Amino acid sequence: MSHKNKSIIFIILIVFISVLSVMFVVPIKTVETRNYMDTFVTISVDSTLFNKKNVDKAIDKAFSEIERIENVLSFYNEDGIIYALNTNGYLTKEKVTPELEYLIKKSVYYSDVSGGAFDVTIHPILNLWKEGLWTEDSERQNRVIKDELSRIGYKKILIDDNGIFLDGVKIDLGGIAKGYAADRALKILKDEGFDKALVNIGGDMVAGDGVWKIVLSDPDDLDNYITSFNISNKAVATSGNYERYFDPSKKIHHIIDPRTGYPASECISVTIIADKGIDADALATSVFVLGPEEGLNLVNSLDNVDALIIDDDRNIYRSNNLSKFEDLQFHSNA
Ligand code: ADP
Ligand code: MG
Repeated sequence: MSHKNKSIIFIILIVFISVLSVMFVVPIKTVETRNYMDTFVTISVDSTLFNKKNVDKAIDKAFSEIERIENVLSFYNEDGIIYALNTNGYLTKEKVTPELEYLIKKSVYYSDVSGGAFDVTIHPILNLWKEGLWTEDSERQNRVIKDELSRIGYKKILIDDNGIFLDGVKIDLGGIAKGYAADRALKILKDEGFDKALVNIGGDMVAGDGVWKIVLSDPDDLDNYITSFNISNKAVATSGNYERYFDPSKKIHHIIDPRTGYPASECISVTIIADKGIDADALATSVFVLGPEEGLNLVNSLDNVDALIIDDDRNIYRSNNLSKFEDLQFHSNA
């Protein structure tokens, strides 16, 4: 082989190795958004160019899991297990999936620790407000709510070795399902080999490896921000009433205080940081109902749980260890 040919082969080899190493080393971020569970779901994955095809496959799989959970747990889907449980009033042990048992036990746990602020039997009362109870006079509101309150309550969910029995109540897992679905989606991405990932289901976020910056918008001005958190292998969930009012005076919204039957009124935004999405989601709703003082007490009593609460007067409350996550650099620039 001539000297010239040797040089050409050498150059081709170098280019080939360079391209290959770029593919293996250079990081890329894949971000995809779809619509599930009545909200936007965004999945972000950090990988290398080499993995791009597998990333897309893994993301598809994670979205499919969210779709499956939505179908199984939906209050309205006639093929789902929640619909079967609610229409029959019970499920025998053989019909109870480990997933349903996990979710209902978690729900009852958060009902217990929140003194009933979290309650998955709240649906009929939420529905009354949604369907226009706010247009009635306060006397009629009181009467209707009092009557309906006597019929609901998480203590009417009986779960034991025989299965699940509902004593005249129906279950709506809307306050916990998104956090759970985000946990499952991240688990799938990790099982597929992508540990550096973030799943965001309408503000319920679950992060894997790497550092993920989560910005908390100002409830009064969504273009602005309150602070930001740096998280890794943690979940962050925000419950807020600022996006979903049923009435023009903006008092009636989607989180109900089961102790009064009226929409919770003390907070406008509650952000919870916890190890898992399911816990962050349920606690965000619980603390939103409990209000800043009681809510903060609950959060500070739990291990590995932190919170940032904004009350109706725009006071900001932080849990004891929140500073571990808050990005002070970002904060001081605010
Ligand atoms: P946010 O993103 O603001 O937390 P979610 O959709 O996660 O809103 O939670 C609202 C849903 O939680 C309602 O649609 C309802 O199904 C359920 N919910 C409302 N109030 C309660 C409550 N006190 N306990 C448990 N679940 C509730
Ligand atoms: Mg929530």
